[in-house]
This record gives sequence, C-alpha cells and structure tokens, in this order.
Amino acid sequence: MIIVLKPDATKEQLDGLMELIEGMGFEYNLSEGVQRTIVGVIGDEEQLRDAPLTAMPGIESVVPILKPFKRASREWHPDDTLIEVGSLTIGGGNLAMIAGPCAIESEEVLLEIGESVKNSGANILRGGAFKPRTSPYSFQGLAEDGLKILQSVGQQLNLPVVTEVMDPRQVELVERYADMLQIGARNMQNFNLLSEVGQTRKPVLLKRGLSATIKDLLMSAEYILSNGNEKVILCERGIRSFDNSTRNVLDLSAVPNIQSESHLPIIVDPSHATGRPDLIPSMALAGVAAGSDGIHIEVHCQPEKSLSDGPQALLPEQYTAVMKQIRSLTELFGKVIPAPSDTSA
Ligand code: PEP
Ligand code: MN
Repeated sequence: MIIVLKPDATKEQLDGLMELIEGMGFEYNLSEGVQRTIVGVIGDEEQLRDAPLTAMPGIESVVPILKPFKRASREWHPDDTLIEVGSLTIGGGNLAMIAGPCAIESEEVLLEIGESVKNSGANILRGGAFKPRTSPYSFQGLAEDGLKILQSVGQQLNLPVVTEVMDPRQVELVERYADMLQIGARNMQNFNLLSEVGQTRKPVLLKRGLSATIKDLLMSAEYILSNGNEKVILCERGIRSFDNSTRNVLDLSAVPNIQSESHLPIIVDPSHATGRPDLIPSMALAGVAAGSDGIHIEVHCQPEKSLSDGPQALLPEQYTAVMKQIRSLTELFGKVIPAPSDTSA
C-alpha cells in the first residue's frame, strides 16, 4: 500500500511512521517527490489495515496498490527512475543509444564497429557472448572469451557495455565484465534468472518476451526489484503476431502505456522488432517520438559475414544517418543524447 504524507508533514511525523512500519516488520520504500512524500509498504495488507495509520498526524491518505506489480508501479514511485550505467544516466530526458553487433565475433570486428558507432553518438556498446539461438547448430557465442573482448573494447572506447546473460549460473561471470546485464526476450520469464540478477547491483536491461503482455513484462521486472535490484530498464523489441512480413510487430504504444503504469525507463529495439534494415530508421525515430528513453540498434561493418542476425544489421553509415535524424528530433521531444563522461574509463 501507499501512504501519502500531507505536504506540511514534519520530519518527526515521518520518522514516527517509519518506526511503526519497521516495528511491524514490513519493508518500505520512501519516495520524496517534488510535490509529495510517499511511503510504499509491502506486506500483509490485512495486518496493515489494522494499524492506526490514518489517525496518525501528517498522513493524508492510505491507498492500496491494486496492481499485481508493486515496486514497478507508478504509485510506488511517482517520479521517473533514473539509472546509472557506467558513467551514463538513463532516463530523465537522457537517451540511451545502445549499438553494436548481435554477437561478439572478434576484438578486431567489435573495435571497428564500436569506433564507428561511438563516432556517430552511441553511448553504450552491445554485443552478445552467450547467444540464444533457435538452432543448436548456429553460432552460440564466444562465452568468456567474448566477455573479455567486450570489456576491453568498452574500456578502449570509454563506452559502458551491455551483454546478455542466459542462465543463473552465468550471472557471476557476466557481471564481472559487463556494466549492464541483458535478459533476452526468450528468458523474460525465467524466474530463477530474474531472481539471480535481482541479487546483483548491476543495471538490468529486461527485454519484453515474444508473447508477453505489458503486465507480464512488469511482473518480470517485479522479480528483479523485489530481490533488491532497483536498476531495471525495460525494452520493447516487438511481439509475435500473424503477420510475417516483419520479424516481429513493434508495439510502440507499449512506451507511453508502460510509462503511465511504471516509473522504470523503457527503450525501443527496432532491430529485433522489424528484422529489416529498411524499416529500422523510421521505427527508431518513431520510438523517440513515442517518448522512449533510448534506442537499441544492431550494427555490423559486414552484415553478410556476421555470425548472428546479419540480415537485420545496419551498416555504420546507415547508423550515422539515423543518429543524425534522431538528433534533429531530440529538442522537439525534450531529449538529449549524452556522451559517456571521460572519468569512467
Ligand atoms: C539480442 O539482443 O541479440 C537478442 C537476442 O534480442 P531478443 O532477446 O530481443 O531477441
Ligand atoms: Mn540480435
């Protein structure tokens, strides 16, 4: 439930309230917004209802959180959540421009792609070392060797790096090398994995499952949040539908829809959503116009030689062109594309 304090509530009144909640053994979250201070409490609602909360001075109202997701909900945290990834802050008008190849193939290839996307304004480098492939015979990724390459290239370019973790047993390894952990669409409801990344303090990029509803996605975020990790960034990457002219169907309304339900940042991935380089630029622009907190695009210098998702990769010059167009939209939509600060390397 949410306890809303009166605008003129005193510090003593707030302290008294927190003492009471703690004394009852509940977990709480204090959110001091610009307008109001609210305290979110999770626990047995019946027991809480018996507490003399409404009678306490300084308290305006006590409202139950009706949504099944609590910590992910706007009620719990009315202001947008800002998340630091390396030296970069995501949310609050900052666009996360995540770019790189689908898979890490070699240091040489990743460095070439990384340099070009950084020059175009990308501020996070991506690349998979553990790849969720439909076929067991397809390239599965370079595993730890790939993670080492990713970390090294990220450091050389002073870019934070994100990579996918597919299994709870890999979390410890991947978090040693990555600034942000990606949970792929296929693992969005791997609840053991969600709990495991919830126990780390690394930001998590949680991609929407292939046939997941908005509620499913937010419930998955709740697994991570309830395990203690508050740094969750959501990603709309297209959902399955009957039409097969695109790889998936990009649900752009998910962006404002989620923003009304949740305080967590949400970014758009037009690469996996469309699977088509000819459609990626317009959908990237539409993602910014829809209010997203970032755009995730796969880029490769030689898509025909790429070991994974080659057909959907943009060439570096195509990425440069789309970044130029996105930049022309930023002012209109109140966004900026921050460069990672030089102090983080
Ligand atoms: C990826 O980012 O390369 C990937 C496999 O994405 P998704 O999980 O969205 O399919
Ligand atoms: Mn991919």
